[in-house]
Amino acid sequence: MENHTCEFSSGGIILENDKVLLIYVENLSGTKVWTFPKGHIEKGETCTQAALREVVEEAGYECEILEEIDNIEYFFNHKEKRIKKNVKWFLMKPLAKIKEPDNEVLAVKWLDVEEADKLLGYESDKELLKKACKALEK
Ligand code: ATP
Repeated sequence: MENHTCEFSSGGIILENDKVLLIYVENLSGTKVWTFPKGHIEKGETCTQAALREVVEEAGYECEILEEIDNIEYFFNHKEKRIKKNVKWFLMKPLAKIKEPDNEVLAVKWLDVEEADKLLGYESDKELLKKACKALEK
């Protein structure tokens, strides 16, 4: 069997009035990408706590979780290691902007869903956006 390390993160798709919040960040391979706020689940944290903390840190928004949208898996290599990443995504409603995003975030934008779909860099994010929009219509 392939030898790999597992990492767990969670994050939020913040949607309101047909607008979605995207962040612009540099990923571990040095490529700049538009995506949704997310991050590692810390020791002692649940995945919902981590997702709510990450949207504050990376987007500056205090949010409420509406529902779980999906669980995404992908592999990548970092420092000679093969990593299997599992990310749990939640649909979120923004409550208030409470701070400026962390410095590693290059930009934060509210975009129409169609514009966001064009900017999103990962295929799985485009699928997540579709699922989040459907969930909100229900
Ligand atoms: P976190 O935000 O959880 O702290 P991180 O910054 O450590 O994460 P990732 O965002 O998981 O790392 O990115 C690590 C690598 O995985 C990136 O360099 C990119 O190549 C790849 N990657 C990230 N997101 C995806 C995705 N949705 N689909 C495929 N590959 C991805």
